[in-house]
Amino acid sequence: MRDASMKHAHEAALTLDGRQVEVVANIGNVEGAHSSVQNGAEGVGLLRTEFLYLERSTLPTEEEQYQAYRAILDVFGQMPVVLRTLDVGGDKEIPYMGLEAESNSFLGQRALRLCLVRPDIFKPQLRAALRAGVDRNLKIMFPMVATASEVRDARKVLEECRAELRAEGKPCAENIEIGIMVEIPSAAVVADQLAKEVDFFSIGTNDLCQYTMAADRTNPKVASLSNAFYPAVLRLIKMIIDAAHAEDKWVGMCGELAGEPLATPILLGLGLDEFSMSPPMVPTVKQILRSLNAEEMKALADKVLQLETPQEIQEFVKEQVPFIA
Ligand code: PEP
Ligand code: MG
Repeated sequence: MRDASMKHAHEAALTLDGRQVEVVANIGNVEGAHSSVQNGAEGVGLLRTEFLYLERSTLPTEEEQYQAYRAILDVFGQMPVVLRTLDVGGDKEIPYMGLEAESNSFLGQRALRLCLVRPDIFKPQLRAALRAGVDRNLKIMFPMVATASEVRDARKVLEECRAELRAEGKPCAENIEIGIMVEIPSAAVVADQLAKEVDFFSIGTNDLCQYTMAADRTNPKVASLSNAFYPAVLRLIKMIIDAAHAEDKWVGMCGELAGEPLATPILLGLGLDEFSMSPPMVPTVKQILRSLNAEEMKALADKVLQLETPQEIQEFVKEQVPFIA
């Protein structure tokens, strides 16, 4: 399917019944940016910023970050780029930050939790992002949100950075959309409340699955439980999408599930607005979306949520949409 889909990689993902879905890429450096454009991505749904902090011995300065973000934003012109603030901890360790060892780092002071207590890390990143976003289509996203108050606290720090930049006479991006990753079950459960605090959600199925199934995503012994096709995960995804839409907010997905061909009909049926994946998957997923009827996929998704296992669900999708298998 990939060869055939490459021919149409740069065409929109318009479903048979005329629903326009956004297909964007997950990237972690400027090479990923170029590969996204070549593969027909319509922007970036997840810019992982950890790359700037790895393989070095000190924090990157605001200026270094500004240059790196601007170089990436420049590749995309006016296409949207969702920059995710630093997500360290869990499986992503950075020795020079002086973080104390934790007995369970996946449940510890990870990502936004760390940033909120370390303004020396958080503020230079936010300032760099605000500066880099001038005249570009930048969106900022906070990872590992568990509660609404964390979102409000993060937004406060962002506003402080904006006020500082203005006072220093430095241009900064105005009116940018602010979103969160929904990747912790608590956030999914109160998605109706969180939707009031943000402009968009992006569902992180890698962590959402890990925390919902209580199965460490790096532990091969529980790999069979680390499967986002479990109905427990899919039902949460439905709750998240419905809660966002009830507040007129859009919902993307940047976890691995968004780039799984067998998940495409399900996610389309659940109403997902934006699919973000590794660049090489973009042409295939676009092609599948163009071959589906969004309205018909609603019934498929309803049925899928009643099944019990990932295997049953995948078999059912293959049966209903044979050209994907
Ligand atoms: C996720 O958790 O689904 C996600 C996209 O974030 P990461 O894989 O970087 O934790
Ligand atoms: Mg995650």
